[in-house]
Order: sequence, then C-alpha cells, then structure tokens
Amino acid sequence: MVKALFLDRDGVVNIEKDYLYEIEDFEFIEGIFSLCNYYQELGYIIIIVTNQSGIARKYYSEEDFNKLSTWMVTEFKKNNIEIKKVYFCPHHPDISGECFCRKPNPGMLLDASAEFDIDLKNSIIVGDKERDIEAGINAGLNETYLYDETNSIKSSKATKIISKLDEIWK
Ligand SMILES: [Mg+2]
Ligand SMILES: [Zn+2]
Repeated sequence: MVKALFLDRDGVVNIEKDYLYEIEDFEFIEGIFSLCNYYQELGYIIIIVTNQSGIARKYYSEEDFNKLSTWMVTEFKKNNIEIKKVYFCPHHPDISGECFCRKPNPGMLLDASAEFDIDLKNSIIVGDKERDIEAGINAGLNETYLYDETNSIKSSKATKIISKLDEIWK
C-alpha cells in the first residue's frame, strides 16, 4: 500500500479561472512544486482529482482537457515531479445526471485507491472548495487541507485552512 497526495486542480495546482482549458491561461500556483517535491520525497504518489463540468457544458471537449493535462504533467516532470494520474469528472448533474465521481462524491479517490493500492486513511487531499474536503472525508482520509489564499473562509471540515501551500509541510 502507498500513501497519496491528492490535489484538486483549479485553485490548487493552477490559478482558478472559469472553465480554463487553454495552455496559455494556465498559471501554476506558487508553492505547488515544493509541496509535491516534499511529499514525493516521503514516498507519497501524487494524483490529481478534478471536476470538469465544462466538458458536460460543452465549453471545451475531453480532448481539450487531455491536451492541457499532458502539457501540465510535462511541466511537473520538468520539476522532477511525477503525477501518477489525472482523474477527472466530465459530468454535471443538471446535464448528465448524478454521478459518483463528481466531488464531494469520493469516486475518483476510490478509483485511484483501487488502481494504485492507496492507503486512503493515511493519504492527504488539498482543495480550494469544501467539496474537495468532503470528497476526501467521504473516501476515508484523515488529513485534509483547504487552501484559501484570501483568508475569507471561516469554517470548514478540513484539518486546517491554509493561505499558503507551504503551510502544509513547513
Ligand atoms: Mg478547485
Ligand atoms: Zn462524474
């Protein structure tokens, strides 16, 4: 069994912009590479779990999403970080009906756990929305971090609310 660092994408890996799918709009958040390096050194595998309802809404295609993911994973690699897999939920309940993968549901984390034999209890999730935290809790994680750069979120089920990514490991 292996521990995982689960990362939400928009708002954790890259600066949140509505329905982002173009490489030129993708800006990495400060501290994301150091965070990944730290946990990678400790033996955690790194997995991205992202809701992408823009696909259901037809704002961009699955192919657009995959193209951006391939580029993003290469950028991580340049920083000596291996992203094991990018799981995404292309659905939206109003358009494609309820699904088990859209956070706060734990489907993506459970799929990852089955695929890579992950010890969920001892894994970590970092998200910028409460639904990321809930997905972690629903999957049985004990350690969850809510990243809120603006310091405006007052309460959360998260282990800790952080305003800088390095607060998790420093
Ligand atoms: Mg997000
Ligand atoms: Zn889904």
